[in-house]
Amino acid sequence: MKINFIDLQAQYRAYKEEIDSEVLEVFSSAQFIGGEKLNKLENSLAEYTGAKHAIGCSSGTDALLLALMALDIQAGDEVITTPFTFIATAEVIAFLGAKSVFVDIDSQTYNIDPAKIEDAITERTKVIMPVSLYGQCADMDAINAIAKKYKLTVIEDACQSFGADYKGKKSCNLSTIGCTSFFPSKPLGAYGDGGAIFTSDDELAEKMRMLLNHGQNERYKHKYIGINGRLDAVQAAILNVKLKHFDDEVVAREEIGSRYSDLLEDADVITPKIAEGNTSVYAQYSIRVKDREAMVTKLSDEGVPTAVHYPVPLHLQEAFKGLGYKVGDFPISEEVSEQIMSLPMSPYLTEKEQDFIIQAIKGE
Ligand SMILES: *Cc1c(COP(=O)(O)O)cnc(C)c1O
Repeated sequence: MKINFIDLQAQYRAYKEEIDSEVLEVFSSAQFIGGEKLNKLENSLAEYTGAKHAIGCSSGTDALLLALMALDIQAGDEVITTPFTFIATAEVIAFLGAKSVFVDIDSQTYNIDPAKIEDAITERTKVIMPVSLYGQCADMDAINAIAKKYKLTVIEDACQSFGADYKGKKSCNLSTIGCTSFFPSKPLGAYGDGGAIFTSDDELAEKMRMLLNHGQNERYKHKYIGINGRLDAVQAAILNVKLKHFDDEVVAREEIGSRYSDLLEDADVITPKIAEGNTSVYAQYSIRVKDREAMVTKLSDEGVPTAVHYPVPLHLQEAFKGLGYKVGDFPISEEVSEQIMSLPMSPYLTEKEQDFIIQAIKGE
């Protein structure tokens, strides 16, 4: 059996007629940047999350960058975040000359541990940037409470968690700013790069809209130094179709995720723990195993693709050598990064495929 890690072709086949027709409309209108498709998407995204403003942008990375730029983060400022994430989270901090201050993760959810945040706060701290990893929100209430106490701003890196619930609210609408990604393999994926920024703060929304369009407030009048961070109309048109079907996909993801966990109950692996009040959109279904190399090889021999998110925590990356961290600084992140591996996951994974994967995991 040949199994895809994520089956994007099956998804395209499911919505092909709608997507083709939406995209062709963009082609014939020749409105490639901005316009009606983007406005419609932004309104739908705001409605979906409950945030007052949703702003389409060029990627999840740029969403995070724009959020930090809007808060005027600059050289010397410190941003508290997790070392157990994709590099983009800390990359944008460094890009602005600011400093990432890492805090270790919770051993159950793999998200930043709020109990360890206060120790990392200094007079230079400006922002706390939790990541809602693998599709499950970080403990945003606890994080927001700390931020309030120290007058800091919270940006949720929701690049993997669009659609997830946290105590009855939606990811992306849990802090001052939320940022998500529409990279093709994310839960809500475009057919190229894309992202969105969410806020209910009118001033920040207006500023971020300007920043992603070269800081322009009127044509060729520039109030800020910005970037070209726009989302194009073709991606918006595709996302409009996919968003319509997204809730069904979230349900399918949850069913597949819980079925994995049920079937793996008696296997020698650690399955994902979803905290009370949370749902997960399972951007990744990741398990922990004692001997990862052996498991990856065993599955690969059976034709089951896997991936590792992420093998090296950020504090041990060469690119962040300058931050001065060393092995042992964040023991939970280090242990998890040695044991974690992700199994095939998409709303189109069939029970037959899933049974085959489970068999391969349990087999001798
Ligand atoms: C994917 C991802 C990003 C970056 O999003 P892009 O759209 O690829 O730029 C940032 N943070 C996390 C946690 C991600 O998973």
